[in-house]
Amino acid sequence: MSESVSESRLSPPPEASPALSCKNVVREYRRGSNSLFASSADAPTVRALDGVSLAISTGEFVAIAGPSGSGKSTLLHLLSALDTPDSGDVSVAGTDVRSLSSRGRTRLRRTTIGIVFQHFHLLPSLSARSNVALPLVEHGVSKRARHERADELLSQVELADRADHTPGELSGGEQQRVAIARALVSDPAVLVADEPTGELDTETGHRVLDYVEQTAANRAVVVATHDEHVIERADRVIRLRDGIVVSDG
Ligand code: ADP
Repeated sequence: MSESVSESRLSPPPEASPALSCKNVVREYRRGSNSLFASSADAPTVRALDGVSLAISTGEFVAIAGPSGSGKSTLLHLLSALDTPDSGDVSVAGTDVRSLSSRGRTRLRRTTIGIVFQHFHLLPSLSARSNVALPLVEHGVSKRARHERADELLSQVELADRADHTPGELSGGEQQRVAIARALVSDPAVLVADEPTGELDTETGHRVLDYVEQTAANRAVVVATHDEHVIERADRVIRLRDGIVVSDG
C-alpha cells in the first residue's frame, strides 16, 4: 500500500476540518511606497496582522470585532482568498489558499465563498434579479435557471416583489439584502461580510442580520464589525487589537 493511500485512510473525514482556519498569519503593507523612497523596499511597513490563528466551523456565526485599524478587513480579505499572507497558513474549506495561483483563488471564491461588502457593490444598471443571478453566469447555468434561482433567493430575503427594480430604486437595507442573496446564490460553504450593517439604521440592520443568522445553519459565517448589535447576536466574537487576537470566545 502506498504511503499516500494509507495516509488518506487514516486522515479524518473532510467534514471534521474547520470551514475556515488560519495559523500564525502575518500580513504587512508597505506604507508610502512612492517617490519619497529610493525604492519601495526602503518604505516603512505596517504589520496589519501579527501572528493570527483561528478556526471557524460550519454552522458558526462569528463576529470579528476591534477598533478601526486593528486588522479586521485585512483578515477578511485573507479568509475570503482575495489576498494571501506574507507568512502563515490560510485554509478555506480544506484548501490551502497559499498553494493556489491567482486563478485558483478566483475559482475557490466562485465555488466556495460568498462575499458581502459594506457598500453593497451591486451593478447599478442591472435589476435585483440580474444582480443576484450574475455569479451563476460563470458557472455556466442557463439564463432561465439563473433567474429561477435568483427569484428563490430574493423571496428568502423578502424581496420577491422587487426583483425587477434596479439598486437605485431600492433602500439601503433592501440593497444589502440583494447583496446577501447574490453572495448566497452559489450556496457557498463560507459567507464573509465586511461591516454589512455599517450603512443601515438599527432596525434595518437587525433585519439584515436575521438573514445572515439564518444562513449560518449550514455554512461558516464571518462578519467584521463595529456594530454592538452584530457582536451581541454572534455565536462567538474574535477581538483584534493592533493585528493580534486579544480574545476569542
Ligand atoms: P480595520 O479593518 O480593523 O479598520 P485594516 O485591516 O483596514 O483594519 O487595517 C489594518 C492596518 O493596516 C491599519 O494600520 C491600516 O492603516 C493598514 N492598512 C490597511 N490596508 C493598507 C494598505 N493597502 N496599505 C497600507 N496600509 C494598509
